[in-house]
Amino acid sequence: MVLSACPKTVRVWLKRDSGQYWPSVYHTMPAPCSCMSFNPETRRLSVGMDNGAISEFIVSEDYNKLTPARTYQAHQGRVTVVLFVLEMEWILSTAQDKTFTWHCSESGQQLGSHRTTAWVSGLQFDVETRHAFVGDQSGQVTILKLEQDTCSLVTTLKGHTGSVTALCWDPVQRVLFSGSSDHSIIMWDIGGQKGTAIELQGHREKVQGLCYAPHTRQLISCGADGGIVVWNMDVTREETPEWLDSDSCQKCEQPFFWNFKQMWDSKKIGLRQHHCRKCGQAVCGKCSSKRSTIPLMGFEFEVRVCDSCHESITDEERAPTATFHDSKHSIVYMHYEPTRGYLLTSGSDKVIKLWDMTPVVS
Ligand SMILES: [Zn+2]
Ligand SMILES: [Zn+2]
Repeated sequence: MVLSACPKTVRVWLKRDSGQYWPSVYHTMPAPCSCMSFNPETRRLSVGMDNGAISEFIVSEDYNKLTPARTYQAHQGRVTVVLFVLEMEWILSTAQDKTFTWHCSESGQQLGSHRTTAWVSGLQFDVETRHAFVGDQSGQVTILKLEQDTCSLVTTLKGHTGSVTALCWDPVQRVLFSGSSDHSIIMWDIGGQKGTAIELQGHREKVQGLCYAPHTRQLISCGADGGIVVWNMDVTREETPEWLDSDSCQKCEQPFFWNFKQMWDSKKIGLRQHHCRKCGQAVCGKCSSKRSTIPLMGFEFEVRVCDSCHESITDEERAPTATFHDSKHSIVYMHYEPTRGYLLTSGSDKVIKLWDMTPVVS
């Protein structure tokens, strides 16, 4: 069964004997749908809309009926993320009105609300500690501790240079993954308590979706470049080094272009500064003419390295730690169903594709 929400219609697609998916029931909404969340245990479908409201439906056991249950007047602007938390009986939602709210799914009452700095595009919740992870357009992830009707700010994670587009929380390893329009994914090791943040570079355009397969410890990411990347999270990766500051190349000692004094003294022309991605040293172009992948630092694509690092990287260290698959459409939304190993991608071409991921996620 596949659920879709396209402009103002929520639709259930069922697999027929032919193997093809055909539309089954549908429900017309009062406003265009902007996001949704389905809970398989309760078969509860929550649909956020452009008018700020969230409508809930119960999908019948045979998936042939959609019964409207409740509408929450949650926001003043387009709902960007909706998340149902069965354990708490909470509906969490964020919207373009820059509010994060949570409602009781039993009484329909709003429990609390929090103002966000920018509009939110990613939301995850840790049931055990009641922390909400809120990723926004400014590129930061805010961690909030939720009580029944209040919340407090725990910390802010800053690392992306573009907006946060997707979040994924692994409650077992206590790791948060954030995807961004800056093309990167950051793995925030919350459980390790050492502040480790590892970057994963495997997309050429913005990251659009993330999900984690806990039993195999694989992260699946999708991008606007059409790429589906399956990351092996069993390997130990290192953090990328801080970039060092220097007025001259740390290899050949030639001055950089702003270093007028040394340029004058040595009668040399200033050079442009680059940085080696492996050691972080400030080097000139001549001393960093080679490129290499550094998968153990998250660089699955070739990046600039200095000549000595290039020599030190072994073929073994260059072996990829992720597999790359082409979905052949620019992905705008993804959903992974771990029990069957199905991945659904929805593209800007308005096509929904269903992928059997079991050959690679196992
Ligand atoms: Zn140099
Ligand atoms: Zn280096």
